[in-house]
Parts: sequence; structure tokens; C-alpha cells
Amino acid sequence: MGILNWLVVGSAPLMPRFVIGKVASIYVAGDKLEDGLKLAKKLNTKGFAATLDLLGEEVKNRKQTNRIRNSYCELLDGIANWGIKCNISLKLTALGLKIDEDLCWDNLSVVLDKAREYDNFVRLDMENSEVTDATIDMCQKGQKYYPKCGTVLQSYMKRTLDDIDTLNSHNTNIRICKGAYKENEEIAYKGYQEVRDNYLKSAEKMMDNKIYIGLATHDLWLIAKLEEMIERKNYKKNMYEFQALSGVPIDNTLERLIENGHKVRYYIPYGPEWYAYSLRRMKENPDIWKDTLKAFFFRSKHRK
Ligand SMILES: Cc1cc2nc3c(=O)[nH]c(=O)nc-3n(C[C@H](O)[C@H](O)[C@H](O)COP(=O)(O)OP(=O)(O)OC[C@H]3O[C@@H](n4cnc5c(N)ncnc54)[C@H](O)[C@@H]3O)c2cc1C
Repeated sequence: MGILNWLVVGSAPLMPRFVIGKVASIYVAGDKLEDGLKLAKKLNTKGFAATLDLLGEEVKNRKQTNRIRNSYCELLDGIANWGIKCNISLKLTALGLKIDEDLCWDNLSVVLDKAREYDNFVRLDMENSEVTDATIDMCQKGQKYYPKCGTVLQSYMKRTLDDIDTLNSHNTNIRICKGAYKENEEIAYKGYQEVRDNYLKSAEKMMDNKIYIGLATHDLWLIAKLEEMIERKNYKKNMYEFQALSGVPIDNTLERLIENGHKVRYYIPYGPEWYAYSLRRMKENPDIWKDTLKAFFFRSKHRK
């Protein structure tokens, strides 16, 4: 870790809460469910779909996992009541994956039942490599129970092309992203271009297998290559979408994608756990603060 990163990470917990709050507010919709729904609704009016993520992961006790499960059910109710174009993204560790896999499944199946009521889609975010296998297993179990359940693969992981084969089934819906955690070089690509290349290989393999793809990235080079690939393969518009984190200032690119007939979905985190979440993110990946500074100074107008 460079000295500057070390200083930022070391001093973050000492910073006043309002400073961290200012930073979090670039990305996080707010504390409450309504804050998330409001932002999703606003983005819908600008032509974007949304996915809402209740912040909070790796909880330590069973009761907490039940509370999070209930909040996700309320979120699905809210989305249906507000009539917005929005699905949900969740982290399995928040539903108890590291406490007990049966507990996690019990919680997930309740959320899937609720999603089934509204014919909505549930995405299982991918966390660090400790839980890659468990997340893929849980997704497969989820898909058998309710097909509108998908997950995420990370192009920095050397195993990703094989995981596409594992996940490839009739209704599979996979988000591909670069990956946000620190992984060691035995299992993960480290070179910037290597990660991009594996992203493109993964996207191509998914297209060849007719998988619905969530193309999650803010990398303009990659977005241009993906547009070329979609055109070259004549990939159907109802088989993919671009995805971006709300607050990242790439408004013009996303607007252009919509104008060109592509579907674009914003990922919107919300919830009272924003403080712990922001600190944890900085600790896990200190490089994040550079992107955060950029987003702070070049604000996305889609948040207003
Ligand atoms: C919709 C969505 C869902 C995701 N889900 C997961 C997941 O389930 N698991 C997982 O491990 N990771 C997930 N990620 C994070 C992802 O893995 C990357 O860490 C992150 O998107 C940065 O990679 P990039 O493709 O944008 O490329 P980068 O090379 O990191 O960035 C490209 C450009 O965008 C800018 N940029 C990137 N991120 C930000 C930011 N936060 N603020 C300001 N500028 C930024 C960079 O400065 C750079 O100029 C998700 C990302 C998105 C967009």
C-alpha cells in the first residue's frame, strides 16, 4: 500500500462523520428506503432502469440477517407500489452466508418468494474469493427455485471463463464487472489491460452462449469495445444492458448509450449502514479514494 493510501485508510476512521457522509453522499441515495426509491424513480424518468442495494454486508448474528431479509422484502414491496423499473442487488454475506449456508438459503428463499409475487429479478452481488463458490452454488439453487435470480462474475478472476460454463443454463443472467476486492495474483489478474481483456473474452463467451449480460463498467475504452462487439455479433437488444454506479460522472456516455437504443441500469446503494460501508470499502480497496475524489469534483448531474 502506498504511503498516501496508507494515510487515507489510517485517518478515515478519525475523520468527522459528516466528512465521510459528504463522500458517501456521492454514491449513496440516503438512509431510508424512500431515498432509494425516489432516486430510482427520478432516474427512470431520464430513461434509466435501476437496481437498489441495501447497504450492509457480513453481519455477525442471525437476527440481523433476518432484519436484512425483511428489509429486502420491504424494498420489493416498495418497488412494486411505486411502479418503478427497478430490481434488487444483494450480498449473500448480509443474509448470513458466512454464519451458516442453510440460514442464508432460508433468508434468500424468502426474498425470492417476494420477488416471485411481483415477477421481479434478484441479483446476488459477488464478494471476495472466499465466497465465490458459495455464491455460485447459491445462485444455482436460487435459479431452480425461482428463475429470475442471477449473479455476478469478476473479470480479474482467472476462473471466470470456467464459471460462465458452470452458470450457463436456460435463464442465466450474469453481470460482468472487473472486480472490487483485493485478491492475490495466484487467482486474479493484476494487469490493467489483462483485466480488460478477460472482461471482453467473458462478454464474448456469454454472447456466444446467449446469456443475458449486465455489462457493468465505467471504463470508456471497454464500453466502446463492447458496443463494437454487440454490433459485430448483432447481439439482440433484449439480451444485455449496460450498468453503472450512480454518482460516477459518466453522464454523457450513458446518455449516448440510451440514445443509441441500449438499455442502461444504474446501481443505487442506500441505507443507514453507509458509514460502516464507506469505511470498509476504503479499507478493502484503498485505491477507491482516487475515484471518489474524481466523482466529488465532477458531480454526476443524474443525481440532481
Ligand atoms: C453496476 C455495478 C455493479 C457492480 N457489482 C460488483 C460486484 O458485485 N462485485 C464486485 O466485486 N464489484 C462490483 N462492481 C465494481 C467493479 O468490479 C469495479 O470495481 C468498478 O466498477 C470499477 O471498475 P470499472 O470497470 O469502472 O473500471 P476502472 O478502470 O476502475 O474505472 C474506469 C474509469 O471510471 C472511473 N471510476 C470507476 N469507479 C469509479 C467510482 N466509484 N467513482 C468515480 N469514478 C470511478 C475511474 O476513475 C476510471 O476513469 C460493480 C460495478 C458496477 C458499475
